[in-house]
Amino acid sequence: MARYIFITGGVVSSLGKGVASSALGALLQARGYRVRLRKLDPYLNVDPGTMSPTQHGEVFVTDDGAEADLDLGHYERFTGRSANKMDNITTGRIYQQIIAKERRGDYLGATVQVIPHVTDAIKEFVLDGNEDYDFVLCEIGGTVGDIEGLPFFEAIRQLGNDLPRGGAIYVHLTLMPYIPTAGELKTKPTQHSVRELRAIGIQPDILLVRADRPIPAEERRKLSLFCNVRETAVIQALDVATIYDVPIAYHHEGLDTEVLAAFGIDPAPKPQLQRWHQVVDGIRNPEGEVTIAIVGKYTGLKDAYKSLMEALYHGGIANRVRVRLDWIESEVFEQEDPSPYLERVNGILVPGGFGERGSEGKIHAARFARERNVPYFGICFGMQMAVIEAARSLAGIAKAGSTEFGATPEPVVGLMTEWLKGNELERRASEGDLGGTMRLGAYKAALKAGSKIADIYGSTEIEERHRHRYEVNRDYRPVLEEAGLIFAGMSPDGLLPETVELADHPWFIGVQYHPELKSRPFEPHPLFASFVAAALEQSRLV
Ligand code: GLN
Repeated sequence: MARYIFITGGVVSSLGKGVASSALGALLQARGYRVRLRKLDPYLNVDPGTMSPTQHGEVFVTDDGAEADLDLGHYERFTGRSANKMDNITTGRIYQQIIAKERRGDYLGATVQVIPHVTDAIKEFVLDGNEDYDFVLCEIGGTVGDIEGLPFFEAIRQLGNDLPRGGAIYVHLTLMPYIPTAGELKTKPTQHSVRELRAIGIQPDILLVRADRPIPAEERRKLSLFCNVRETAVIQALDVATIYDVPIAYHHEGLDTEVLAAFGIDPAPKPQLQRWHQVVDGIRNPEGEVTIAIVGKYTGLKDAYKSLMEALYHGGIANRVRVRLDWIESEVFEQEDPSPYLERVNGILVPGGFGERGSEGKIHAARFARERNVPYFGICFGMQMAVIEAARSLAGIAKAGSTEFGATPEPVVGLMTEWLKGNELERRASEGDLGGTMRLGAYKAALKAGSKIADIYGSTEIEERHRHRYEVNRDYRPVLEEAGLIFAGMSPDGLLPETVELADHPWFIGVQYHPELKSRPFEPHPLFASFVAAALEQSRLV
């Protein structure tokens, strides 16, 4: 039977609860346990799909097409287990189910209430489908004391009693701030946070305390005393240079040992951490450096591109180089010549995006990369902009555009139902193959044998995750191919362009899907490994 670890946060948000949970999952996995990580998000959106990336960071997409919290990306990268729709739930989704049940009359005349109906629904979700796991780690979003989080805290409190003795433990992540004028790390915020937790009936078993410097023994004792946590279970979580160092750092501090001890499991056998040491060693001792420009729109909040950044780092690990990221707001190129910005970089990446603002700037970036032979990687929107650029510059379609930005005489990128009304594509849509207008989750693609991308993958059949509404219009394929843009990857039925590339360019690839979502530190995605290798090659030329 699965054992449960509930991870809550206190004091402030952004303490890295997702990474902490992932690291603990990785440590248990390194001891041979089967681990599942799940996220309970107290906000009212049904999923983060409708939220701006600048609000809540990237929307992570799973194979089965869930638009989920970005922490699921950390879970996948740290454990290698692919997350699914059932690994992330929100208040919105719980209420949506409850209200539908109430309307159907399923509650048989009962008054529907937060306790027990909402808490029961949360508990059902937490306990569901865990047969194949030894440990299920449930992270509660937000911090203790948030009003919207209360039903979740209540549900996990109840689970402590519902489960057999020793079936669940509580880990609380807090912060000890350093006050320069006093020259001290302060315990008080953690004390208050734990008091809040205990007021709702949860006694943490383990305190994971973030601090920017080592916690003196005396302060640790104080935390132990005032928070009613044994001293060995006060674990310091110091800042580290790379997130991939976190499992090793937590192991040194005894986190996994304490967790197992709290369950009454003998922690003596050591975890197998070689692969983590290898990854960290690669990051710490690079043999070179490349600079990649990311020309995007949400560059103000790096969390908006979380998986992308990680995938680029993985590409660096694969080539044993440090990858420096140069963030550029694409709108800049609508006023200014891109050359001074892009001349000094070794690769240009235009990531996913939505809406017209900044799109012309991205098109300028793609043009610069094509004309100057700089490696170019266009992801989703970045592919669409590269195709528009090629249509305008190579195929002479001056008015090439995307219907995402309104009506256009040359819809090189379009919403398929709009631009192919009455033909087979529309028939396919009405069969619901694309499920609404967003294409979400994993889809297969067929790659042309001998194309650059097939070489990179070492295969002509791939499966990647999608999240987009618009498609490159295959009606333009003949003229664009004539002009030199190769449609190397298509959906298996041949209807939807999946990848494009230029033949006489060192590395110019656009993909309609999001390869960054499947990259992992131990298995860098081949496209990112290859892109960084091309950037390295380019850096040797300049
Ligand atoms: N806005 C584009 C579309 O909906 C691209 C989406 C994306 O980059 N994820 O097709």
